[in-house]
Amino acid sequence: QRIRAACEHAGRSPDSVTLLAVSKTHPPETIREAADSGQLHFGENKIQEAKAKIPLCPGKCRWHFIGHLQSNKVRDAVELFEMIQSVDSLSLAQEINKRCDQAAKKMPVLLEVNIAGEASKSGYRPEKMLAELKELNHLPRIEIHGLMTVPPWAPEMEKARPYFRELRRLKERAEAVLGAPLPHLSMGMSGDFEVAIEEGATLVRIGT
Ligand SMILES: *Cc1c(COP(=O)(O)O)cnc(C)c1O
Repeated sequence: QRIRAACEHAGRSPDSVTLLAVSKTHPPETIREAADSGQLHFGENKIQEAKAKIPLCPGKCRWHFIGHLQSNKVRDAVELFEMIQSVDSLSLAQEINKRCDQAAKKMPVLLEVNIAGEASKSGYRPEKMLAELKELNHLPRIEIHGLMTVPPWAPEMEKARPYFRELRRLKERAEAVLGAPLPHLSMGMSGDFEVAIEEGATLVRIGT
């Protein structure tokens, strides 16, 4: 209801925003309950937890990886997830490409951007992402669908707005480099998703 209200407020169609239920730390029973209520997309941030849990969840659940991905976990990630939202280096993308090739599949990905340049966070620096974009796009098993970010934590949601706006502008620059549209902006969490929707989010990641 809040997503719908935020879309109406922003003059957007409610269908243009997908709710990603961040299910990390939640047991399969809770996920099943959500799935039975019509929730389809779920997000996990640890491969080990996902590997144990996903087989116990309903088959209709669709899984997104949203955590920091180490190269030695890529093979599992490629098997478990239908989208990897946290690609933050060329070497990681190359490893995903290699494992997808072996598994004969393609992987939709988002490029994670460290939009505020926080030392404590993973994610591409914006200029680095733009510089590597063409090479990333040439990896045959990878489909770049857009950008993802986690802005600096703040108690009020308005504080996040400039970062969301920045990510939207960065997506426009990336589209210019690629000469093609990127459909997704994954931004907005429990504390700030309404503002993210006003700034163009298409995927909101809600945990708490
Ligand atoms: C945990 C997590 C979320 C959900 O955050 P909430 O504030 O609990 O909604 C969203 N995105 C990422 C990358 C996360 O790790």
